[in-house]
Amino acid sequence: MMIKFDNSYLRDLPGSYLRLAPDRAPDPKVLVLNKELAAELGLAISDAAGWFSGARLPEGADPAALAYAGHQFGGFSAQLGDGRAHLLGEFLGPDGQRWDLQLKGSGRTPFSRGGDGKAALGPMLREYLISEAMAALGIPTTRSLAVVTTGERILRDQGPVPGAVLARVAASHIRVGSFQFFSARGEVEKLRALMRYTMARHYPQAEDALGFFASVAQAQARLVAQWMGVGFVHGVMNTDNMALSGETIDYGPCAFMEAYAPGTVFSSIDRQGRYAYGNQPLILGWNLARLLETLLPFVDADPERALDLANAALEGVAGTYRVAFLAVMRQKLGLAGEAAGDGSLIDDFLTAIEGVDWTLAHRRLAGALTDEAGYLALFDDPAAITAWLPRWRARLRSDAAEALLAANPAVIARNHLVEAALQAAEAGDLHDFNALLAAVQDPFGPEAGREGFVLPSPKGAADYVTYCGT
Ligand code: AMP
Ligand code: MG
Repeated sequence: MMIKFDNSYLRDLPGSYLRLAPDRAPDPKVLVLNKELAAELGLAISDAAGWFSGARLPEGADPAALAYAGHQFGGFSAQLGDGRAHLLGEFLGPDGQRWDLQLKGSGRTPFSRGGDGKAALGPMLREYLISEAMAALGIPTTRSLAVVTTGERILRDQGPVPGAVLARVAASHIRVGSFQFFSARGEVEKLRALMRYTMARHYPQAEDALGFFASVAQAQARLVAQWMGVGFVHGVMNTDNMALSGETIDYGPCAFMEAYAPGTVFSSIDRQGRYAYGNQPLILGWNLARLLETLLPFVDADPERALDLANAALEGVAGTYRVAFLAVMRQKLGLAGEAAGDGSLIDDFLTAIEGVDWTLAHRRLAGALTDEAGYLALFDDPAAITAWLPRWRARLRSDAAEALLAANPAVIARNHLVEAALQAAEAGDLHDFNALLAAVQDPFGPEAGREGFVLPSPKGAADYVTYCGT
């Protein structure tokens, strides 16, 4: 049994990675294995514990740590890179789509700086759970193949905890920070090679640097619009955590918002709220500006003209995002086609649901079609929503009842459930984790019969804090 690797990144982009083997986990044990995903990708896995911990590599793997730079909370680091991850290689899925196979938590690399190169079990299970939830919600994301415990205990703030490796697949691991790495070093030819490689791999239709930028901007804008639609707060939208493919990547202190409040922040390290829910569209634009800066040498030979063209392209980003967001919200509200007043209809809905559970305020719109009083029970003060509902009814598509249920999840990964499931899993009991995983993998299924996964915590929305867990 094998994986047929074809490692184009290593072949085409010398100088952008360091080849090195992952650590050999002393006692690897598979905790979670995504058999459905493996089958979808045509992967025949004969040694999950060995392959996905790094203890024994599949034939043809050519492990490497990729170099990248990045702005972290606005401050630039010229060298970050895979400090605890190894790209094992690329393979082609049954449909010809190219995938990266990467291990995370697999040991120190020359990019580790002060870190131990390891990952704790809790955060790796968290990435597995949330990334699979996102995939089931139809949101572009890296996918999780397995979580394997290493048999080691590693030291974290809370004391020694079990170490683990996450195996994930991604359309690629090319980040805005990958471009910044070469740009900061003034290595223009390597930067050009990276741009050409990324265009060929992800945006073959793009014809030049500005066309490439527009494609990336479109993909990332659609992604962030979809995050906003499900109340997802990424938590660390640093430029090294923004994938050129337009996939969600690097699940750290992310979480789903419950009561709608634009200022929602979960991450313990985001003290200024830079990556708050409502700021994500602005940060999207900020990060895209950092990408476009690196592309300036390819925009035009005349630096002043390049700057003018780039500025014009950047000015378009807010509009690109708004179009993507309106498309997401039209779907969520079950609107028929497009109408001139949709922007204010949507904005007024958002104002009316402030403080109400984001997920239920959308999901139960389907019920509001026949039982308005039942819907209004979600609201402490129903005045604004009562005034809004007739405007909404006038814009509904004819099949709104089904369309609303198909567009709005009943189940998201609610914070109190994630926390309880991870705590039990760290103590050796995977029952709650597996039950929650199954629930979030069927987000659009019925509410009935699974109220425990649908409803907010009975204790109320205690302030939830997430940690990077690195
Ligand atoms: P992140 O915030 O997870 O996106 O990581 C930012 C940078 O820190 C990346 O270069 C990571 O590879 C690195 N890093 C995070 N955790 C560790 C760790 N435990 N050991 C070494 N490097 C790490
Ligand atoms: Mg990262």
